Amino acid sequence: MRQMIVAGNWKMNGTIDETESLINDLLAGNSKNDKVKVVVCPPYTALLTASKLLDGSHISLGAQDMSEHEKGAFTGEISPRMLLTVGAGFVILGHSERRQYHAETDKLVNAKVKLALSTGLTPIICVGELLSEREEGLTEVVVGAQVAGTLSGLTAADLKRVVIAYEPVWAIGTGKTATPKMAQEVHAFIREKLAVIDKAAAEVVPILYGGSVKPDNAERLHRQPDIDGSLVGGASLKADDFIAIINAV
Ligand code: PEP
Repeated sequence: MRQMIVAGNWKMNGTIDETESLINDLLAGNSKNDKVKVVVCPPYTALLTASKLLDGSHISLGAQDMSEHEKGAFTGEISPRMLLTVGAGFVILGHSERRQYHAETDKLVNAKVKLALSTGLTPIICVGELLSEREEGLTEVVVGAQVAGTLSGLTAADLKRVVIAYEPVWAIGTGKTATPKMAQEVHAFIREKLAVIDKAAAEVVPILYGGSVKPDNAERLHRQPDIDGSLVGGASLKADDFIAIINAV
């Protein structure tokens, strides 16, 4: 049995007041489901507030990125240890918005993945193709290279500690969702790629789907055998929608 996970990526949303209000709504609502691990990933400035509110609850905390360096003269960066000490257990790495707006490469993401693991954080590693790449029939080439590149050099034991999120870039924030069949095909392909590294690890690594997941499409997506949860952007900012997704999964 693989762990089902629903993680909310708040992106650049969440002042302290908004964070308090959303977390309180999640804790007061029906967000506890024994079959699903729930994670919220607020912006850095709200992590400590979120951490205090979530302390002892069923909701785990994650960050949206981190530096590939442990410490030092890297102005504006946040280290993995800083995240750990503020109470984060997860970190999203290689999100398509980081790749697109900050030119993050698989090599850089790979360095971050290794540092996250050695620090004790669980990386949620994002992969996914552009619309033009899908239209050219390159989905497997692109996603295969991202999986191989971001996981390069990991041992089987390391691999068992990662989470992958398949997020077709054309589905993020657009309202266009991959059909359950389209998503399942890529999830099964990713699991095959993981099995090349280690068969046993491939069976336990959760592969989340991300891209306009909403309460009304979550159940259909999660009936697929290789979809082990969701990375949710926009809908994670509304407590009712996020809770509905958790329970649909
Ligand atoms: C995301 O940012 O990871 C995401 C999937 O966003 P959305 O759900 O808004 O498409």
